[in-house]
Amino acid sequence: MIIPVRCFSCGGVIAHKWEEFNELKAAGLEEAEALDKVGLMRYCCRRMYVGHIDLIYEAAPFSASTQ
Ligand SMILES: [Zn+2]
Repeated sequence: MIIPVRCFSCGGVIAHKWEEFNELKAAGLEEAEALDKVGLMRYCCRRMYVGHIDLIYEAAPFSASTQ
């Protein structure tokens, strides 16, 4: 879905770096380099990014509406 706001293990706030991370990856950096650049050093936080698949745009059309 969307990137979780906090790391599941340590509770550190991680979501605010997601856009920058994707921009760095689109610019051609490896995932490890992009994670270093955005400042995610703990491996518990890094795995949140590496294991994440952004499915919000696939799921959004099926979300509940208020009609
Ligand atoms: Zn963490």
